Amino acid sequence: MTLDWRDPSIHLKQIYLEKSCVGNPYGEEIIARANLPVKTVTEQDLKSLVSGEYPANLREGKKSLLLCRNQGEFLKDCPGTREYRCCDYRVLNVGLGCPMDCVYCILQAYLNTPYMSFFLNVGELFSELSAKLNDHPVRVMRIGTGEFTDSMALDRITGLSTRLVNFFGQQKKGVLELKTKSGAIDNLQHLQHNGRTIVAWSLNSEDIITKQEIRAATLEQRLNAAARCVVWGYDCAFHFDPIISYPGWEKGYRKVIDQLFEKIPAERIVWISLGGFRYLPSLKNIASDRFPQTRIFAHEFIDGLDNKKRYFRKIRTTLYKVIYNELRTRCAPDTCIYFCMESDEIWQEVMGFLPAEKGGVGAMLDQAVKLR
Ligand code: SF4
Repeated sequence: MTLDWRDPSIHLKQIYLEKSCVGNPYGEEIIARANLPVKTVTEQDLKSLVSGEYPANLREGKKSLLLCRNQGEFLKDCPGTREYRCCDYRVLNVGLGCPMDCVYCILQAYLNTPYMSFFLNVGELFSELSAKLNDHPVRVMRIGTGEFTDSMALDRITGLSTRLVNFFGQQKKGVLELKTKSGAIDNLQHLQHNGRTIVAWSLNSEDIITKQEIRAATLEQRLNAAARCVVWGYDCAFHFDPIISYPGWEKGYRKVIDQLFEKIPAERIVWISLGGFRYLPSLKNIASDRFPQTRIFAHEFIDGLDNKKRYFRKIRTTLYKVIYNELRTRCAPDTCIYFCMESDEIWQEVMGFLPAEKGGVGAMLDQAVKLR
């Protein structure tokens, strides 16, 4: 029987509660909703929560969620690099890890804990956000929660989206992007978002979704979820990332674009990003050991200026040109199509202009938001 992974939080089997968080009202709310076994743990227990060695124990670890406090800052700049054009994005760190298991997931190499974490000290999160938004010059701060986790994967249990969307609905300078590969968007209905939340999906071809995005929603489920959000008044965004070269890629990605515009009105799409498959060198061994059947590393790659491996320029531009040209003819004129982490040369060759001519990628995205 094939399981329905619209809501990947069904993969959870165990909640751990850090001792210092016992009695935390938000923690109690989550525990009641999850209806799973709960065990209180100390910091010393954390190393042995999941048996086995990391990353081999990730498979088992993704069934456990630790409720704890974030000791550091919540809001950080996106870890882009100076060498490629990046988009001035801010990352709101709400937790770590994800119940889905994409073969290419960079978190396998970035993180070192097999279990997922979710931060309960949201009072501090909102104080920090308010202070930083107040101090921000009068322009849009684009903020996303989907960098070290998936924005909606655990939302049925955490209910965090409700708090975030209501908060951003009151902000003049902030825009929230909730990025996901799930279809778990029920909590977004009936919220006062006031157009300050954009709901975004990573898209890929059916072939890549089936073979490389384990426990993620199907393409149809993602687009159906997006269509529901449109009905609820949200604008949407889409990320073709990672774009993977494989036999049949062109047909596969063209089909995704056809399905996208069949379901979503073009004028409701704020931005679409394109990013070719790239990875930290250490990811190859981790992912190949965990997913021996994968063929995504069976290519020649070059070392990028950001120390990540990426396809040769010719391959990247071939992939990008097909997808970009198709998107540009279907998109509304004010939908911003942009590259995530690409060089000026690629922008010029594929899109025919440099981001600097339009004030930079950040300004292009700010403009796409403001036009609404
Ligand atoms: S959905 Fe995102 S965070 Fe989750 S495993 Fe896939 S790439 Fe990683």
